[in-house]
Amino acid sequence: MNTVIEQWTAVRERIHAACVRCNRRPQDVKLLAVSKTVPFARVAQLARAGQVDFGENYIQEALEKIQAAEIELADLKEAPFSYPVWHCIGPVQSNKTKWVATHFDWMHTLDRFKIAERLSDQRPTELAPLKVLIQVNVDQGHTKSGIAPDAVLPLAKAVMSLKGLSLKGIMTMPDFHPDYDTQVDKHKIGKAVFDHVLQETGSPEWDTLSMGMTQDLEAAVEAGSTLLRVGTAIFGARLAA
Ligand SMILES: *Cc1c(COP(=O)(O)O)cnc(C)c1O
Repeated sequence: MNTVIEQWTAVRERIHAACVRCNRRPQDVKLLAVSKTVPFARVAQLARAGQVDFGENYIQEALEKIQAAEIELADLKEAPFSYPVWHCIGPVQSNKTKWVATHFDWMHTLDRFKIAERLSDQRPTELAPLKVLIQVNVDQGHTKSGIAPDAVLPLAKAVMSLKGLSLKGIMTMPDFHPDYDTQVDKHKIGKAVFDHVLQETGSPEWDTLSMGMTQDLEAAVEAGSTLLRVGTAIFGARLAA
């Protein structure tokens, strides 16, 4: 067996063990393989092994892989739920929204209504609405991506009215902390925001909590994550970009 497949299998076992440990059903926690900087050949290999969701950060790099997949993985479209589902997990400037709206299935980094409006307007009508997540900054006081927890509900309500989008939930990326309980506490802030919006809106589409990466996925599972974004543990260390 090849290392990427072995490492992917080991990650799935980690997720399974984390679910068992906190009494969650493994089918409720999905794995998103973060393939930024990873050559298409390895993405294709993993797709053929059964990995469906892929996350990319850089639009140009992603578009090349999405196009390559259209040709080289076309046969996977014949089987249900096996062709890659593309998630944009990097920041998106307004001059790039068109690429996201036309080529991706998901976008995790929504932080402004203006971007949401552009994505909705630019989503081709023949495609299903673009699935989006609001990025939430759970590290108060730090200057980083995402909006404050108390700004999520108003933005969510506004985005829910847009026809070209399906608002699925939130994404968080807490600062890494080596202490497990601290990791869980950070992820619980995301979980509380997620639950609050669900309670206030009752939206049937609101079902995705994207949190947890290579170093903190067990804590994310414990806090209630439904989508883990894992790169390094599957593909190995990335070269500095
Ligand atoms: C790179 C990246 C990941 C994956 O991080 P790893 O530590 O390699 O698992 C997850 N989410 C986002 C938003 C990323 O940019």
